[in-house]
Amino acid sequence: MLKYLILIWTFCCATAFANVDLKVIEKDFSESNIGNLHTGKNEIILTFDDGPVKGVTDKILDLLNEYNIKATFFVIGKNVLAHPELLKRIVDEGHIVGNHSMSHLPLKNLDPALWKDIVKNEVLDNHTLLLPYMQNNKHFYFRAPEGAWASKYADFLNQNEIGKQYVGPILWDIGGELEVKNGKYLQAADWACWSKKVSIDDCMSGYLYEARKRKGGVVLMHDLRHQSVELLAKLIPELEDRGFTFSTLNDVDWKI
Ligand SMILES: [Zn+2]
Repeated sequence: MLKYLILIWTFCCATAFANVDLKVIEKDFSESNIGNLHTGKNEIILTFDDGPVKGVTDKILDLLNEYNIKATFFVIGKNVLAHPELLKRIVDEGHIVGNHSMSHLPLKNLDPALWKDIVKNEVLDNHTLLLPYMQNNKHFYFRAPEGAWASKYADFLNQNEIGKQYVGPILWDIGGELEVKNGKYLQAADWACWSKKVSIDDCMSGYLYEARKRKGGVVLMHDLRHQSVELLAKLIPELEDRGFTFSTLNDVDWKI
C-alpha cells in the first residue's frame, strides 16, 4: 500500500514540478502568458513596447548606451515599416528585438471565421518583417498586445515551423498598472502615469517600490512618449544604487 502511495505522490509531484518548469522555460508558444521569469536576485530585464518611435526610441538607446545596458524592444510591424533605421540601430547596438504584432490589434473577441488569418497576419507576417533584425536573439520572443491571448492561438501557431520556434507570449513583473495607497505609489505603469498626469518622480517611485518588493523581474515600459525617456533616465541610476543588475531575455534559462 505504502509503495502505491509513494508512486502516486511521485507522479503527482513530478507533474506539478514539470508544469512549473514548463511555464518558465517552455520554448514553444505557451497556452498562457509567461510571467515570473525573474530569479528574485535583484535582476532587472528591461523591455520597451510599441515602438520604434522617432525622438523616443533613439533617446532610450542613448541612455542604454550610457549605462551599457542591453534591453528588449517589442516592436510593432507598422512602426518598423515607418522607421527601419531605428530598428537597425537597436540591433547594431546589441539589443534584442521582440515581436509585438503587426498592428497592435488585441487578439481577443476575434471573428470565429477569421481568427486564424488574423493571428497568422499579426504574428507570422510581423516575424517575416523582423527576421533580419533578430540577429542578437537567442530565441524568437513574442509579447501579445495588451497581454490578450488564448490557448487555441498557441496550438495553431505551434503547428507552424516558424511559430514553434517562438517563446511567448512574455508578460512582465513590474510596470503593469498604477496603484496608489495613502499617497504612496505601490506600482506604476508609464502609459497610465502620463495619461493621469502623474509626475516622473512619483511614477518612478512606483516602479522602484515594485522592483524592490519583487526583488527584480521583467520591467515593462513603452518607447512612445518622451516622459518615458525621462523616467528611464532617473530609474536606471536609482536601481543601480540599490544593487540591482541588468540582464536580458537571452539570459533566461529557456528549455531547448
Ligand atoms: Zn503594446
